[in-house]
Amino acid sequence: MDTLAVTGGEVLRPDHSIDPADVLIDTVTGTIDAVVEPGEVDADRELDASGGLVVPGLVNAHTHVAMTLFRGSADDKQLDDWLQEDIWPVEAELQAGDVRAGAALGIAEMIRSGTTAFADMYFFMPEVAAVVEEAGVRARLGHGAITVGKDDEAAHEDFRAGLEFAREYDGTADGRVRTMFTPHSLTTVDESFYREYVPKAREDDIPIHFHANETENEVDPLVEEYDQRPLEYADDLGLLAENSFLAHGVHVDDREIELLAERETAVIHNPASNMKLASGMAPVQKLLDAGVPVGLGTDGAASNNDLDMFDEMRDAAMIGKLAAGDARAVDAPAAVEMATAGSAAAVGFDSGRIEAGANADLAVIDLDKPHLTPRHDLLSHLVYAVKGSDVRHTVCDGTVLMADRELQTLDLEEVIDDARERAEALFDRAQA
Ligand SMILES: [Zn+2]
Repeated sequence: MDTLAVTGGEVLRPDHSIDPADVLIDTVTGTIDAVVEPGEVDADRELDASGGLVVPGLVNAHTHVAMTLFRGSADDKQLDDWLQEDIWPVEAELQAGDVRAGAALGIAEMIRSGTTAFADMYFFMPEVAAVVEEAGVRARLGHGAITVGKDDEAAHEDFRAGLEFAREYDGTADGRVRTMFTPHSLTTVDESFYREYVPKAREDDIPIHFHANETENEVDPLVEEYDQRPLEYADDLGLLAENSFLAHGVHVDDREIELLAERETAVIHNPASNMKLASGMAPVQKLLDAGVPVGLGTDGAASNNDLDMFDEMRDAAMIGKLAAGDARAVDAPAAVEMATAGSAAAVGFDSGRIEAGANADLAVIDLDKPHLTPRHDLLSHLVYAVKGSDVRHTVCDGTVLMADRELQTLDLEEVIDDARERAEALFDRAQA
């Protein structure tokens, strides 16, 4: 056994208690071997966490990572206009190299803000898988399949490509890449395609992830056409199951909440994106009270505009209170749980907790900052005061991906230059 010890810090435990401890990691299996009293470990290497808080690596359970290239290109617009006027025309010009550059940029940003795993739905997914492998993070990846605006043959081709990617890439990068089947949303995929392809994904036990109930404009047409709530329709299509998870769930009624709880289907809450696109306020406390599994995501950088999960926790707590009309709703422990164990469970990774046996995915936060002083309650700080830039080290699968804010697996300067060039050329093509 080759070992790494994260020493001298205070450790956030699964029950949300925080105490001084050292974390011993088996770097061969990439798992946590033990969490022990300070000063008791004897490891091959040490990572100094003194003066820091050791937390589980955050899990960004819904994003479109290569959309970092779209960051700041179209703001302050309604979802439908934003998609049709700004996003889709540029996406039509995307090349594999753009997705690789955008993914590298987003993954660098996530490592630097303590995120060690993410779920991604996009195009040119082998490119994303390649960057995940190189960067050392963990990801569940799916090719976003859509029928709207496509002829039948092209749409079938898209769905077949989605299944093929899921089958071919699952378990690659030493098991850090897992896959999923990702029909884009209930309104952008024709019913017949759900009827044909969902059973195929289920046969192979491939998890399914899709967008649902994001805006009222998306809910109303489905209610009109099917005389069913969107998630009743989704259930009828076989989309709701324990290994399925949906993004948004903003406009859900009580019957739909009950359905989600019954089927143990996780909702990934994207508070920043929902606020920015004025999609609405997800009833997160209600979901939690009903026993619905809830995770947290940033959505793409075009609607956020960053991939900082600390921002997202804060937003989740804030909007959760507004939505419930109750300052006690979505408290700090709930927000932390969503971003760690909740997201990890939804995405299907044994991460999100610092405990023997779990994946060795963690981040060390530097607490010696004015905005983190004094230390009445570190769990409160995690949600309400810590920023991604306070992360000192990031570890995933037992490998150090960032030490003292220096990326170890990616060349940050190169990643930024490449992304700038690619974004410029992409937008030039789209405007030509
Ligand atoms: Zn999304």
